[in-house]
Amino acid sequence: MITEKLPNNPKPQEWQAAQLSQLHIADYKPFNFVDGEGVRNSLYVSGCKFACPGCYNKIAQNFNYGPVYSQELEDQIITDLAQPYVQGLTLLGGEPFLNTQVCLKLVRRLRAEFGHTKDVWSWTGYTWDELQQETPDKLALLRELDILVDGRFILAQKDLTLQFRGSANQRIIDVPRSLASGKVVLWANLIK
Ligand code: SF4
Repeated sequence: MITEKLPNNPKPQEWQAAQLSQLHIADYKPFNFVDGEGVRNSLYVSGCKFACPGCYNKIAQNFNYGPVYSQELEDQIITDLAQPYVQGLTLLGGEPFLNTQVCLKLVRRLRAEFGHTKDVWSWTGYTWDELQQETPDKLALLRELDILVDGRFILAQKDLTLQFRGSANQRIIDVPRSLASGKVVLWANLIK
């Protein structure tokens, strides 16, 4: 019998940014149109342990890939976000929730400088329910977000026609509405 390889499934709080993150950055892509709604500046952090077969960015599964996050890069991201045509910041990876030191620092600065005039989207391999049982740093990052695209990439459910996600199990979640209601509320602009 051939067994299909699946992503890893951590126990609650098994993987912690404090132990895993090396604060490395795989990429920074300013002014792009593909990582969420509108024009966005995207930060790709390094390191992910889900190991989804078919991962779109396998090289960034390595926690040591790329340069270390720097104050200069953060300043550049904030300068780029100030452009009036930029809707917001996107966090991807790698796994943003295993690099909360970087992501929380940046998002908190965004909120301090722009309040909610800029939005924040993040992708994660964790599901919404898994994140509710996670460490305080992960919950703190979740609370700062506007949109979360949740769940592993499951090759058997791959669908290239979906908005902003690769497999049908993943959801585009309205974070403030979900936190307020205690259940997952999907993004209002979802078409497919
Ligand atoms: S969660 Fe995302 S970055 Fe991590 S292995 Fe899966 S597809 Fe790749």
